[in-house]
Amino acid sequence: MSINMVKIGVVSCSGEDCLGGTISRLATRKMLDEVRPGATVTICLPLFLAGGVEERGFAEKFPTISVDGCSKACAKRATEKYSGKVSAAIDVSDFIGKDVAEAGALSTRNLTDEHKAMVDKVVSEVTVKFDEVLRAAQRDLVAKGLAMTGPSGGRGCGC
Ligand code: SF4
Repeated sequence: MSINMVKIGVVSCSGEDCLGGTISRLATRKMLDEVRPGATVTICLPLFLAGGVEERGFAEKFPTISVDGCSKACAKRATEKYSGKVSAAIDVSDFIGKDVAEAGALSTRNLTDEHKAMVDKVVSEVTVKFDEVLRAAQRDLVAKGLAMTGPSGGRGCGC
């Protein structure tokens, strides 16, 4: 496998009950679909928690970035409990404000331009971390002279 095929797992919290969770899921989706489609793998947190072997195995072997909607950091804590230390952690409430992040959840049909701007702000922060982690993983790969293997697709479970 070439160095250009190093994958980074981006693990979003499943926050269905607050705006921060909605923003974290949308930002993660944008990393996968638009920003770093060739190098991003998402991991379904509920499947991960339910014991998905591939999800836990991936996070044990590959760098991961958690994206959480609030400081409770469910994605970060779950990843570190069941797999290994995350390479970077994003708390959406650091960028959109705690009160905003804890506001009620929103259907994606009702997203305003303001919400979309919040998603883009979080995506920018994730991208900075992503590129740092990717460069470090590539350097590590070269240093070890090892090939990394992983899921061939971009999605952990297809949901
Ligand atoms: S990190 Fe916060 S928003 Fe996300 S699932 Fe946990 S409590 Fe909900």
